[in-house]
Amino acid sequence: MTPTPGALGPDARDAALAAMTGQAGEHELDVLVVGGGITGTGVALDAVTRGLSVGLLEQRDLASGTSSRSSKLIHGGLRYLEMMDFGLVREALQERGLLLTRLAPHLVSPVPFLYPLTKPVLERAYVGAGLALYDGMAKAGKYDMGVPMHRHLTRRQVARMAPDFKAESITGAIRYYDCQVDDARMVVAVARTAAKHGAHVATRVKVTGFLREGERVVGVTARDLEHDQDLEIRARVVVNAAGVWTDEIQEMVGGRGALHVQASKGVHIVVPRDRIRSETGFIVRTETSVLFVIPWGRHWIIGTTDTPWDLDKAHPAASRRDLDYILEHVNEILREPLDHEDVVGVYAGLRPLLSGESEPTSKISREHTVVTPVPGLVMIAGGKYTTYRVMARDAIDAAAHSLRTTGHGAVRDSITDRVPLVGAESYETRANQRVLLARRSGLHVARIDHLLARYGGQIGRRPARRSPDGRGPRLGRRPHRRGGRPLPASRRGRAAVAAQAHRPGGRRGAGPGHRPGVTPEMPRACLTRLLRSGRSGSRLRT
Ligand SMILES: Cc1cc2nc3c(=O)[nH]c(=O)nc-3n(C[C@H](O)[C@H](O)[C@H](O)COP(=O)(O)OP(=O)(O)OC[C@H]3O[C@@H](n4cnc5c(N)ncnc54)[C@H](O)[C@@H]3O)c2cc1C
Repeated sequence: MTPTPGALGPDARDAALAAMTGQAGEHELDVLVVGGGITGTGVALDAVTRGLSVGLLEQRDLASGTSSRSSKLIHGGLRYLEMMDFGLVREALQERGLLLTRLAPHLVSPVPFLYPLTKPVLERAYVGAGLALYDGMAKAGKYDMGVPMHRHLTRRQVARMAPDFKAESITGAIRYYDCQVDDARMVVAVARTAAKHGAHVATRVKVTGFLREGERVVGVTARDLEHDQDLEIRARVVVNAAGVWTDEIQEMVGGRGALHVQASKGVHIVVPRDRIRSETGFIVRTETSVLFVIPWGRHWIIGTTDTPWDLDKAHPAASRRDLDYILEHVNEILREPLDHEDVVGVYAGLRPLLSGESEPTSKISREHTVVTPVPGLVMIAGGKYTTYRVMARDAIDAAAHSLRTTGHGAVRDSITDRVPLVGAESYETRANQRVLLARRSGLHVARIDHLLARYGGQIGRRPARRSPDGRGPRLGRRPHRRGGRPLPASRRGRAAVAAQAHRPGGRRGAGPGHRPGVTPEMPRACLTRLLRSGRSGSRLRT
């Protein structure tokens, strides 16, 4: 039986903790990462692929923080272009091309947006120039742009593409492309890629303090929340990637640190796809920013807001005022206004913004900062999802400097621009075989496409789980349920279900991308069994 590369199940968790605490494996890690969001998992991947020994601790589940509550865009950020933040936009567009065409082509996909124009001539010239610069920057980058160039549209063309727009409110539009990703799934893919290359990853372990030798940080104390045990993990360098929890980690080293991370709340609503007839996503301008209306499977995701938040960081919540704000702005462009009844899901996330003085949160920089407040501790904060790889590289560059002071030899340069994420290998071949796979499995081609966009080149692989007789995967029971109760996602080693937690009232089945009764694992297990047995899929329940 071939184990799934980088699988993060309960056994892998136990083995990772044994290795990190020195019971099996290293007495001291080179790098210990705190935080299992996109930044922390990116840091673990960067470090392990440079040849360092690495551990990662996450207090809840992978992507349980901000990294499962974003707008799910891999983008340069038109808004930052307007704020003249050209460096950030160029860097983000370069990362967009890299992720789309090389590192995660199965997870990242192009998405078209209409930028509606409401005034004649001048607005078209202004927005057109901005989008020409946006596309120009992407084209001039190191990697393929991977998406079509922008295009000017007349009012009549817009009416054909988006019949639900109020025709009288627009003079035309410009269509441009960005990319989108299932943010929680991507974090799991980065973590699994790191684990595949040898990183030790453990969820439900909360860092509670630092081990010190004089000034120097030499590891952490932590609580294993699965087994209610205190742990000590030694590492030459600890990298903090705790997002909006950064200040709490700084307090553990006596409040020392140059970073002040301000949490800014962003809310999204989810509405059924048939409530707005439009072939493409679109954006709506607000007084201070823009709202994105993003196609997401059978739904639209609409957001976001940008307001300070100083309550419980683990549970940011949307208020009635947030929903009213979103509905009011999106309704400016819609013929049939949306109301609260149309909202089938809501989620809120916290941006980890680096704050200086007292700017409004929409003006605070999205750029990241890396600092070393005391020897042996590197802190990284700020940034955005799209540029996680650059953030991770900068953090490990800083860690490499710290490592040299402990007598560690030179650390190699980052290679993550050449390390595809799990599922990217063989993806193109599998995508070319989609019709063949559909014919062999008895599944519809659309179903194969759906699986490809989740598992990439891994579809058709033999799964690690087998039935008790050892002959095939367990199909009769849900692999992530125990005694009828769902297992904590940490025990499943995956966070693809994280989005489910953000539904109103915790209802299962109403969020984006969810289909009732279908678990993320099941289609793959079924498909794999079907591909192996050559039988029709009609008798297998998914
Ligand atoms: C509403 C919204 C929309 C956004 N949209 C986009 C977008 O479309 N595109 C884009 O590029 N960016 C977007 N962003 C920004 C992006 O989502 C964030 O910058 C990114 O997800 C931050 O990731 P992170 O890993 O730094 O933080 P997190 O994902 O919050 O990860 C930090 C982790 O650290 C863990 N942790 C904290 N303390 C401890 C401890 N003591 N021990 C162990 N673990 C600990 C937490 O549990 C958490 O999982 C958006 C942000 C928001 C809020």
